[in-house]
Amino acid sequence: MSAPVYLKGDKAGLKQFLDKYDVFLFDCDGVLWSGDHLFPGSVPTLEMLRKKNKQVVFVTNNSTKSRGDYRKKLESMGIPATTEEVFGSSYSASIYISRILPQSHPQLKKKNKVFVVGEAGIETELDSEGIPHIGGTDPAYRRDVTPEDYKLLAAGDPSVLDPDVGVVLVGLDFHFNYLKMCYAYHYIKRGAIFLATNVDSTLPSAGALFPGAGSMSAPLIAMLGGQQPMAFGKPNQAMMDAIEGKFQFDRSRAVMIGDRANTDIKFGIEGKLGGTLAVLTGVTTKQEFLEGDTRPAYYVDELGDLLEGA
Ligand code: PLP
Ligand code: CA
Repeated sequence: MSAPVYLKGDKAGLKQFLDKYDVFLFDCDGVLWSGDHLFPGSVPTLEMLRKKNKQVVFVTNNSTKSRGDYRKKLESMGIPATTEEVFGSSYSASIYISRILPQSHPQLKKKNKVFVVGEAGIETELDSEGIPHIGGTDPAYRRDVTPEDYKLLAAGDPSVLDPDVGVVLVGLDFHFNYLKMCYAYHYIKRGAIFLATNVDSTLPSAGALFPGAGSMSAPLIAMLGGQQPMAFGKPNQAMMDAIEGKFQFDRSRAVMIGDRANTDIKFGIEGKLGGTLAVLTGVTTKQEFLEGDTRPAYYVDELGDLLEGA
């Protein structure tokens, strides 16, 4: 495995890097900003790339927000973008459910309702693909389990288990609870397909780690005896195929920029992109990038370091 090349301060190397790619895939949190803190180099770097007519795509595993929410967040940070330039794990899962799944599972043409464990971002993207859904942010699922629930769920009673549910989709749910787990488990046991927007086990916030979407599907996996969900966020290549389907680019002329080795950098390597660039403003440390199993082709301290090559 070759050592990642450090580009900061290497004007000629940076210029070569910028000339080598037409398409720049950006991870968002940890690269452009951290939570609500915008990194100072992000706006000028994006402006520089746009001036050079580079195609920019924002690729995020955050399932709680829709593409439209992300466009607004980018704009509020001073980064103009179109909804089309945003790819989120909820969108990736939704287009898979509406366009791919019915081909391999013809029964879903009739029974395509989705039971959602997650937030409004998932619901918005399912709506945009015309997929019916229940669960999610519905307050009816934000309560304790009653003895009556146990009875009805055990009997598979159609008054609680909707006969049209053919898919369970799990993302980060800030109101995750025992009742939703019971429902998700019983739908899957009844034959629903088990999907996850993304499987990041942790969510970085305020300088510490919190439970991520992968920690929502983990209890279900345990209960199902190890059955894994199909997942859509980085590094899953379903997301890359969807991006390529939309932008029709030459992968050798594309680079993935990210802060996390096991999601972003792996995504770029397994997608056989022309390159991967790590920044040190997020989750993975310099030592992990240099010595770990998943190494980027290049790294800089922060995104704004690219400006020197313009
Ligand atoms: N999931 C959630 C809910 C998040 O809030 C974030 C970051 O904000 C992520 C995942 C990771 O997103 P990204 O892929 O942009 O780093
Ligand atoms: Ca990130």
